[in-house]
Amino acid sequence: MVLAGAGLGDYELLPDTSHYTPKGRLNIMRYISTRGTAPDLSFEEAMLTGLARDGGLYVPEHVPALTHAQIAAMAGKSYEEVAFEVMRPFIGDTFTDAEFKALIDQAYAGFGHAARAPLVQIDSNHYLLELFHGPTLAFKDFAMQLIGQMFQAALSRSGDRVTIVGATSGDTGSAAIEAFRGLKAVDVIIMYPHGRVSEVQRRQMTTPTESNVHALAVDGDFDDCQAAVKDMFNDFTFREEVKLAGVNSINWGRVLAQVVYYFTAAVSLGAPHREVSFTVPTGNFGDIFAGYIAKKMGLPIADLIVATNQNDILHRTLQTGAYTKEGVNPTISPSMDIQVSSNFERALFDAYDRDGAAVAAQMEDLKQGGFQISQGAYQMLKDTFKSGRASEGETHAAIKTYLANHGELLCPHTAVGVHVAEAHLGTTPMVTLATAHPAKFPDAVKAASGVAAPLPPRMADLYDRPERLTRVPSDLAAIQALIKERIAH
Ligand SMILES: *Cc1c(COP(=O)(O)O)cnc(C)c1O
Repeated sequence: MVLAGAGLGDYELLPDTSHYTPKGRLNIMRYISTRGTAPDLSFEEAMLTGLARDGGLYVPEHVPALTHAQIAAMAGKSYEEVAFEVMRPFIGDTFTDAEFKALIDQAYAGFGHAARAPLVQIDSNHYLLELFHGPTLAFKDFAMQLIGQMFQAALSRSGDRVTIVGATSGDTGSAAIEAFRGLKAVDVIIMYPHGRVSEVQRRQMTTPTESNVHALAVDGDFDDCQAAVKDMFNDFTFREEVKLAGVNSINWGRVLAQVVYYFTAAVSLGAPHREVSFTVPTGNFGDIFAGYIAKKMGLPIADLIVATNQNDILHRTLQTGAYTKEGVNPTISPSMDIQVSSNFERALFDAYDRDGAAVAAQMEDLKQGGFQISQGAYQMLKDTFKSGRASEGETHAAIKTYLANHGELLCPHTAVGVHVAEAHLGTTPMVTLATAHPAKFPDAVKAASGVAAPLPPRMADLYDRPERLTRVPSDLAAIQALIKERIAH
């Protein structure tokens, strides 16, 4: 059987009916597309590919459940140990246990907190899960640092070189650049909406000096950037030519890495013996979808609450069953300024009982502006996710009152989360995900609270480093031409 070293194509060696090696030890997880027509892939292939060839997203063919005893045994373990146990069943034979443990250890070694994702109590039954101790001060480091390690390990084995193209509303891009800067087998090209990311976010993307890093400022909004990435993946000639790879939040490897902190948080609050709820500041639905996976794996999660800012397509969808695009209105929580939420497709796929054709039809309607979710699918989504929204005024007010009443300076995304969480506090412990450090959004935080949030000392010179970026029109052909020129060096 195929063990470590499995490259593209090795999977045909496995008989379709057998998901186990003769030893019964290795579960060869396969990944299927939400639109039903792309080929099934291994974990390694799904990670390196990103978007499926039929335009869909890869999901595991089944979600492995952990037993009550396995979850109970996580109490007192390190973040890295829990990470290994939670992710191991999903990675098939892509890495050996020893390799995977080493990659996890390396991924989180640069974090500024020994607990990686510490939990802070802010009220009798309300906690903040601090996900901002990574190198770019936002939760995206959890996934991106691990993806960087896994890409490097997989590519150095195959000798391939890839071009990573990503769209960002701010945090993904800086996290991707931080994870891939200087890696030999990778060029990393990040498109962000010009003038619509915070200065700290921009500088984190434009100040790295490595020649494999390319920051493109697009004249458009985040959805334009995201659409350009999707179009590039659907241009198969270009895709082959530059060996395109994606690390946007649709990459399954990223979702998977985010499942881990739901476990560490819930276990430290008494799971599996006690239920825990989570409120998640949401944009592309990757983080909350990871919570949904944790629940499917057996973690006793009571409520999963989607918190949106005034760009509230997900809140509206969960309230009405109609998914309809509206324009994006920029907010002080820019990483949630979206009108199309890519990972929502994964939830739809389950809501439609994994009927890829039904999902593909709805995504076709979305091009015309929206779709109505069928009654049964809508019921499933309503049973699974709650939702709430914070206006700009409410976000400002939350930053102010949490500093005054709880002594916590929140980033605007986290402020959206606590505002929404407050409507759902009860006897079950509530964990709100603190998705970024307040210093990443200093102007908004200062305007709301009157207090300046200093950068941690390890990045205090960010404002003094020279910037390097390329301004581009929102034009697919022009962007593709530029990418080919850049990677030809
Ligand atoms: C990306 C991001 C979000 C939204 O997460 P999704 O997985 O896209 O829903 C929220 N807050 C911050 C700070 C982010 O960077």
